[in-house]
Amino acid sequence: MTSAHRMRWLLNWMNLSTAAGLLLAKGKQCDVRPGPDGLFLAFGYTGALPVAGAFTVGNVILCRFVPDQGQLRPALLAHEARHSTQYAACLGLPFLPLYFGAAAFSLLRTGDHASLNIFERRAGLADGGYVEHPVRPLAARLKAALIRREPS
Ligand SMILES: [Zn+2]
Repeated sequence: MTSAHRMRWLLNWMNLSTAAGLLLAKGKQCDVRPGPDGLFLAFGYTGALPVAGAFTVGNVILCRFVPDQGQLRPALLAHEARHSTQYAACLGLPFLPLYFGAAAFSLLRTGDHASLNIFERRAGLADGGYVEHPVRPLAARLKAALIRREPS
């Protein structure tokens, strides 16, 4: 574990995001195992949200599959590890509303929650399994929506 990983580990314990991730994993009866670089891998997550094969809370990477069903792709592990670092940079759980705001902006502009989401872009879109969607012309879309709503 590098000094940067140790700092991330310490910050995410201090800001309680790792504790929140471990509580979530325990609540969903995940199989939690130590992972690389101070991360925890929690297998068998069964919650309805988020709709993702894996997601991160603090230093905890929660995965829908169990170890017998497969492994975390190295690129996806790196992507989720970058989200863990983002938690540390955002002082923990404030990451979540910031992330959802960025996801909403991306959804509005591209129709996809990741393409313009600064957190997903910085974590690596391709590593996360995302395909970048083009920016949609917002002004033309709003004008079209307004024209459709005018009485005929
Ligand atoms: Zn991601």
